[in-house]
Amino acid sequence: MSTGNLIQNYLQRDIPCDCGRTHNCQVKTVEIGRHVLEKIPALLRKENKQKAYIIADKNTYQAAGERLVQIFKKEGTDFSVYILRSDEVVADETALGEIVLNMPSDADVMISVGAGTINDLCKFASYKLGIDYIAVASAPSMDGFASVGAALIANHLKTTYQTHTPIAIFGDTEVLKNAPMDMITAGFADILAKYTCLLDWKVSHLINDEYYCEMVVNMVKDAIAKVMSLADKILERDDDAIESIMEALVLTGIAMSFVGISRPASGSEHHMSHYWEMKFLMQERKPVLHGIKVGIGTVASSCMYHRLLEEKLDFDEARKKAQEFDKKHWEQEMHRVFELAADGVIALENEVGKNDSAGHAKRIKVIEEKWPEITAAVKEWLPQAEEIENILLSVRLPINPLQVGVDAGLIFDCVRYAKEVRNRYTILQLLWDLGLSEQYADMVREYFTANKQANYVNLIKKQTQSRIDKIKCFVLDMDGTIYLENRLFPFAKEALKAIKDSGREYCFFTNNSSNSKKNYLTKLNNMGIPVTEDRLFISTHVIMEFLKKNHPGASIYLVGTENLHQEFVDNGFLLTENKPDMVVLGFDTSLTYEKLRKACDYIRHGALYYGINPDKNCPVENLEYIPDCGSIAKLIETSTDRYPAEFFGKPSKRVLEYVMERTGYQEEEIAMIGDRLYTDIATATDTKATSILVLTGESTVEDIEKQGIQPDIIFNSLEDLIPYL
Ligand SMILES: [Mg+2]
Ligand SMILES: [Zn+2]
Ligand SMILES: [Zn+2]
Repeated sequence: MSTGNLIQNYLQRDIPCDCGRTHNCQVKTVEIGRHVLEKIPALLRKENKQKAYIIADKNTYQAAGERLVQIFKKEGTDFSVYILRSDEVVADETALGEIVLNMPSDADVMISVGAGTINDLCKFASYKLGIDYIAVASAPSMDGFASVGAALIANHLKTTYQTHTPIAIFGDTEVLKNAPMDMITAGFADILAKYTCLLDWKVSHLINDEYYCEMVVNMVKDAIAKVMSLADKILERDDDAIESIMEALVLTGIAMSFVGISRPASGSEHHMSHYWEMKFLMQERKPVLHGIKVGIGTVASSCMYHRLLEEKLDFDEARKKAQEFDKKHWEQEMHRVFELAADGVIALENEVGKNDSAGHAKRIKVIEEKWPEITAAVKEWLPQAEEIENILLSVRLPINPLQVGVDAGLIFDCVRYAKEVRNRYTILQLLWDLGLSEQYADMVREYFTANKQANYVNLIKKQTQSRIDKIKCFVLDMDGTIYLENRLFPFAKEALKAIKDSGREYCFFTNNSSNSKKNYLTKLNNMGIPVTEDRLFISTHVIMEFLKKNHPGASIYLVGTENLHQEFVDNGFLLTENKPDMVVLGFDTSLTYEKLRKACDYIRHGALYYGINPDKNCPVENLEYIPDCGSIAKLIETSTDRYPAEFFGKPSKRVLEYVMERTGYQEEEIAMIGDRLYTDIATATDTKATSILVLTGESTVEDIEKQGIQPDIIFNSLEDLIPYL
């Protein structure tokens, strides 16, 4: 049975359970798969809905909203759409107000197009307005789709409100697999977080006799197992892997609906994550994806649990500490760490008395009795922190709070105080009960900072080594990587020799279409770089292969240098100045107004139009730049309103195909090395190839975040590669 059917089995029916309850989930339909968005109009008709109110933000509108609107138009479905104004929507009073203000009064169903934030907002707003809502996932990034809880920030405090479930959830594979990779891996990490949260639940069950359902726990455990078994296919955006994440996220939501609480999905790792999130918000810092934070939180929780197993507990000492709880001092601390949210936190404590000494003493007694069961539960279920780290690293996720801007102070405080935000028993409260909060806060801080920093560097080295071990062919950029214009980098020869000596191959790929293969070969040979003709590639060759296959015999108006013309003529292409079938734009350093005029003319009159390389600038000596093919294309676009149908140099996926075909290596055996993010590095994005950024040319480390393109490995220069070979 497919998991799709499995999910449907959980919906809209009473499931009597050994836990003593009867479980029920109000979601009527879950559709995960290709093109499922097309099923929404029929569902609306079946549900007798007259007018849909679609909510999206700019990104989710592009990802899925636009398509939904097209489907609705085609089907004649009545709808109104509102796109939230902010670039970084926060689930707070402002966004809620916007949604309500712009809602047409005759709308009878809300459709949230998004993931965490927008889903929470629509869940809450539709609940308050008394209408149904449908969740359309823009990314498999969080598990709140099927749950009743809506997390909002009200009065500076993040609170989960019990609302309702959507009547239907749609996860269209085409949308989900094209979501930004960090959102997909964030969803994956949110599944990983279930390792610690399920344990927190069990521990609370043992200590506080809190309600616990084995069936629900097993349901989530099965979902984790399936996702983990497909984990190595996530970076490839494999359909099954992406669907398994979405299914697990929805199942977790259903699990939450079954028990009416978020226990199956959220524990200490989430509390620490929420704490960081709240602090970031107070400091007006850019938020970090939920899943990314909880993934790191899972490392922290696992680290604490496993350390606790080694502890020689002194229950009498804990009892003594229990009598010493100083509420006044605690309140001061709450004001210090929670700032504007402190009143809410203090009010919660006054209401539930998490830290009251009577309850505390009682718990210590139970912990002492149940200690063997608690330790057995940890040993049986929870992977070591290092295993969690390795899983995160395998999908290139951060493993350390420092990596996402959480500093040592925040790490220390979160272990002690993240527990105060909710009345939920986890390892954090357990440590407090045992009088170990402070000590473990120190330990965790130490784990992630002092010791860890060194470990972390080693870890990165290890990871780099294991990636490079797999590489059999290095595809090197030239300008900015082995030389700058005419100056060969002093380490280039040695590095290339080291590649050869290690039994590997290298080849060159340059986007620079202003020059010919012959000239590049001469240039490299004059510099003393050994290279054969069949190991030097130019973007020009990729487009020529494409044209031969797809437009044989087409006449071409070529905007390019004399060298480029020669290259095309040598390869049997028909160049013309008169009524061409297509215009091909290269990096033309001999561009004239006459050429531009002609090109624009032909393009305006409907000629096919391709660009050879998308580079905006070409680096020359002294860190100067000259305008490249991409910039000329922009000029032509301004005049003609047309942009090349395709570029063929890096980062086109055709580049890898081309190199693989010519060299015979597999994708995972290839490393792209270059100095530029949006071309050299982006070629390897979402492939099994490895990308290596060198900082000897255009890009700096700051550009990585700015451009949002993450290299697998960063080296100061090609020289740094040598020790790994
Ligand atoms: Mg370069
Ligand atoms: Zn149950
Ligand atoms: Zn979560």
